[in-house]
Amino acid sequence: MWVDVIVEDILATRPADRYVVNDAKSPSGPIHVGSLRGVVLHDCVARGLQARGRQAPFLYGFDDYDPMDSRPASVPAEFDRYLGMPLSEIPSPVGGGASYARYFGLGFAEVWTKIGAQPEIYWTSEMYKSGRFNDAIRIALDRADELIQIDREISGSQKAERHPIQPLCESCGRIGTTVVTGWDGTLVAYECRPDKVAWARGCGHHGRRSPLDGGSKLQYKAEWAAKWWILGVSVEGAGKDHMTKGGSHDVAAVMCERVFGCRTPVPIPYEWFLVGGRKMSTSKGVGVPAGELVEILRPELARFLMVRPHYRQQINFDPSGETVPTLYDEYDRAAAAYFGEVEAKTPAEADLLRDHSRTFYFSRADGEQAKAYRMRFAKVAYLMQMPSVTVEEVAAQEKGGPLTEADRVELRARMEDARRWLQSYAPDQYRFQVLSQLPAVDLTPAQREFLAHLGTIVAERDHWDGEALHERIHALKNEMRLPPKDAFGSIYLAFLGKASGPQAGWFLASLDRGFVLARLREVSGGVRA
Ligand SMILES: [Zn+2]
Repeated sequence: MWVDVIVEDILATRPADRYVVNDAKSPSGPIHVGSLRGVVLHDCVARGLQARGRQAPFLYGFDDYDPMDSRPASVPAEFDRYLGMPLSEIPSPVGGGASYARYFGLGFAEVWTKIGAQPEIYWTSEMYKSGRFNDAIRIALDRADELIQIDREISGSQKAERHPIQPLCESCGRIGTTVVTGWDGTLVAYECRPDKVAWARGCGHHGRRSPLDGGSKLQYKAEWAAKWWILGVSVEGAGKDHMTKGGSHDVAAVMCERVFGCRTPVPIPYEWFLVGGRKMSTSKGVGVPAGELVEILRPELARFLMVRPHYRQQINFDPSGETVPTLYDEYDRAAAAYFGEVEAKTPAEADLLRDHSRTFYFSRADGEQAKAYRMRFAKVAYLMQMPSVTVEEVAAQEKGGPLTEADRVELRARMEDARRWLQSYAPDQYRFQVLSQLPAVDLTPAQREFLAHLGTIVAERDHWDGEALHERIHALKNEMRLPPKDAFGSIYLAFLGKASGPQAGWFLASLDRGFVLARLREVSGGVRA
C-alpha cells in the first residue's frame, strides 16, 4: 500500500525519531476539493510514521500573508479594492470580525476535521508579525542576488525581480505591488508600483521601512524554502503542478539547500483530485468546494476515495451513475480484509488482501472502527424505496441475528448516503416508487395472461422468499415463451409505472402479499389463469 511504501522509504533514507510533516495552502477563496488530497496524504504519512513509534506532528500552514490576486465569484465586487493586500488584512466576506483568510481557511479546516485529519494550523501572517521569519528575511536580503540567480538558473525565469522579498506598503497596505529598491542592513527602500502586476494597482508611494516583524514577506519560492528551514519540515508533498522540472519545488529545494543550509523535505508529488461530472460542473462552475464532498459521502468513504488509489494516479470522482455503489463495494472488500473475514488462497491474494486491509486502516476517519454488519449499498438504496420494509429488520434477517449498536451506526451511515445518492445522483434504473394506484398501462394479452398466472403463483404461499419467487417467475416466462423484456416489463409497469426496476422476485416478495395479489388481479383484468 502506497502509504506504507512512503513511510518505509522515509525511515530507511532519513532515519530519525521525529519527523515534521507539512502541508500548506493560500486561503485565497473557497478551497477546492483537490486540496483535500494533500491533507489526506500528509495525514496518512504522519499516522504511518506515528504507528512506527516516531513523533510525527502534521502541520498545516495557511499562507495568509499572500496578496489577494483575484476575486472569487462568490465574493462581493467591492472586495476588488483589497486586491494586492495580504489575505490576513482583508475582512471576511461575511463580516463578523475574522479575516478573509481565516474565513476560508477555517471553512476548509472544518472539512478535514470531518474526515479525521487534525493537523496543527499555523498562519504565515502570524509567523511574519511575530518575527519568526526575521532571520530568513535578513538572509534573503543579504543574499538576494544569489536567490534571484537560483530562480533564473533552475526555472529559466527572466523576470527583472531584484529582491526575493516584498515590503508591505505603509501608505496603501498592499504587499503584492511593491518592489525593493535598496537595503542598508536595517531598512529597505521600496516603491509601490501602479503597474507591477496586472491584478492590482499600487499607490505609487516610495518609502523606507524595516522589513522585519511583518514589514515584508518573502516571495513565494523563497518563502517555501524558508518555511522548511524555520519549521524543520522533513516531509512535504505537493501537487504535480508544483513538482515539474524547473518548477517552484525545484527552485525552493535549491534555495533551501544553498542559502538556508537545510535539507529539502522528502517530496511526494501527487496527482489531481477532481470532483465533477456533468451534474456538478454545470451547477457549480469550475472547481467544487471541498465541503461538497462530505455532503455526498460520509467521512470514511470520502477518505477512502482518496486513500485507495496510488497518489500518482489522478482521481476523477463523478458521483452520478454507479460510482457510489461501486465505491461502497470496494470499501466493503477493504473492510472484509481488515477484519479478517476473508482468507487468501494464494500468495498473490494475500498481498491483495493486505493492501485492502491497509487501505481500510488509513481510511478510518475516527480512531479504531468497530466491526459491523455491512449491508451492500445498492441493496440499502433499494430497500429504502420499498414501502412497508424496515431496512433494519431486513439487515437483521440477512445477518442472522439482532443488530449491534455498531451495526446500526454503520447501517444508518449507509442509509444517509443512499438517501443523498437517490435524491441527486442515482441513475433512473436505481430509482423507483411503488404506485399505490394501478397506473394506466398498455399491456398485450400475453402480458396480462402472464400477470394472471403470476397471481396464482403468489397465492400459493403465505410467504415467499425472493430467490424462490424469482425462479418461479423465470420458469413461468419460459413456459409462456415470453421475451424477458415483456415479462419483467409487465411487472414493473403494473407496480412502478415504468419499464424497468429492481430484481422482480425480491421486489414482489418484499411487498405486502395482499397488495400484490390485488394489483395482479386488477391489471390482468379478467384474464383467467
Ligand atoms: Zn501602496
